[in-house]
Amino acid sequence: MSAINSEKIVLASNNQGKIKEIQSILNQHTIITQTDLGIHEVEETGGTFIENAILKARNAALHSNLPAISDDSGLVVDALQGAPGIISARFAGNQATDLDNLELVLQKMQSIPEGQRQARFICVLVLMRHANDPFPVIAQASWEGSLLTKPQGTNGFGYDPIFWVAEENCSSAELSPLKKNQLSHRAQALRSLEQQLMQFSVNS
Ligand code: IMP
Repeated sequence: MSAINSEKIVLASNNQGKIKEIQSILNQHTIITQTDLGIHEVEETGGTFIENAILKARNAALHSNLPAISDDSGLVVDALQGAPGIISARFAGNQATDLDNLELVLQKMQSIPEGQRQARFICVLVLMRHANDPFPVIAQASWEGSLLTKPQGTNGFGYDPIFWVAEENCSSAELSPLKKNQLSHRAQALRSLEQQLMQFSVNS
């Protein structure tokens, strides 16, 4: 990410699952998390993944005086009209665990037959060089799959145990971390972010 004038980047997330994946993909950079700096999560008041990602990156840049990268992501289920979507982390309530959220999705999908269980993970990444950056770098990607009827696998986090990855013939919680970090919505969005930043440094 040579377009950034700082070796350190703050990751605007307290989600250990995301932090692990982003750190392992951006292993050329010094990533510090906002948790390390004692920065509180901002309220996600936006109506879209992009709005929420900007809110998070701006908050982390403001309180750290460093460039910040945020991730707003979630599961979008066709049969549930796009739910849980931007409220994926709190689908079953503000204090809900990953398991509570996953179980609520399974319960709502109980009567939905195979063939109508398409879903996708969405990831929006935003990089802000400083809190007033008027030109945030935005990358977004999706990862297509379908929903299982019960959890399978123990890797990953969130909805991974119920997300079926047809091309690998397993759930995303059964993929190795290395494989998930090649295929996932987050991995694809990170590749896109890096490409945009390379473009920047060529043109500036
Ligand atoms: P956010 O912190 O508001 O962006 O919420 C993201 C939520 O989406 C997470 O808490 C998970 O429930 C879900 N999610 C996002 N990415 C993944 C993933 O890679 N695997 C499983 N669940 C994910």
